[in-house]
Amino acid sequence: MPQIVQKASWLLVISLVFSIQALANQADNQSNAITEPVFELVVLGDSGGIEDGNLSAFLLRSLQEANYIALDAGTVVNGINQGIQYGAFDNLPLVTDDKWGLAGTILRHHIKGYLLSHAHLDHVNGMLVASPEDSTKNIYALASVNTMIGDTYFNGKAWANFSDRGIAPRLNQYHMVDLPLGQNITLDKTELSVSAFSLSHPVESSAFVIEHGNDLFLYFGDTGPDSVEKQGKLDKIWTALAMQLKYKTLRGIIIETSFENERPDHLLFGHLTPNYLMQELHNFATKLGGQAPLKDLKVVISHIKYTMATGSDPRAIIKQQLNAANDLGVQIIIPQQGQRLLF
Ligand SMILES: [Zn+2]
Ligand SMILES: [Zn+2]
Repeated sequence: MPQIVQKASWLLVISLVFSIQALANQADNQSNAITEPVFELVVLGDSGGIEDGNLSAFLLRSLQEANYIALDAGTVVNGINQGIQYGAFDNLPLVTDDKWGLAGTILRHHIKGYLLSHAHLDHVNGMLVASPEDSTKNIYALASVNTMIGDTYFNGKAWANFSDRGIAPRLNQYHMVDLPLGQNITLDKTELSVSAFSLSHPVESSAFVIEHGNDLFLYFGDTGPDSVEKQGKLDKIWTALAMQLKYKTLRGIIIETSFENERPDHLLFGHLTPNYLMQELHNFATKLGGQAPLKDLKVVISHIKYTMATGSDPRAIIKQQLNAANDLGVQIIIPQQGQRLLF
């Protein structure tokens, strides 16, 4: 081999070794960035009815601050008490307030606002019944959702008007904030911001993309699948998110799976089954492109319908059906009330 060619091939080998090393470092940095958690989630309520002490509600905060935003509020005080029992707040730098116990301190000082997906009772019940001892804060929802909450509950009949809108006397404890569709809005007294999207359900429901820096967390209220609802609302969210994920990181999703696969379409009433959830996640994956784009993504399953009927265990069946259909490699999480999860 002529000397010049030999030298060139050595140079090639050396530069190859360096670029492989650089690639390995890059991959390392990326996986570190993904494993270091940035969000904390506390499960206040994990089910979609009919057990009154355990209805859809979650607390989300950035680990850099002690301020939560509630994602729906089906169960609040009982969920906080369950969380205390399971140690979910052991890492929270607590405000000292001698007047209130631990649950009261968390409710009054650490929950800075409610993001309400829709007006169905199983998503707002906990907030309503806790309102006499709650502190002043914002309720964030789509305009139609805020209007329905005002008309249905804060009307001086079903409940006193704790809001700052509608029928007098207004107690002004909750400041109602209408979220414009798809626009990023800062959540008061937190480092988080939110963009809201509309979802198909018997009443208008919504999804929230919550942001902290370049990290995103996605919460879905009740929703039917696009293939049944024919409104393309989930498709819109997947498209918007796929655009954002070119430069941001999705840390986790909470999405409902209310019923088992056997449930006929005409009895879904705007809800998902395991197969429909996977169909939706496949649509999302296709928009993201690349190989296994959703692999290891944490997907928390909410709103599994609780039943008192004997001989049926919807949680076990839905878990089994989700795992059987999970060819995307997502991490399915069936949450428990009182549990603390990191993302
Ligand atoms: Zn519901
Ligand atoms: Zn609903």
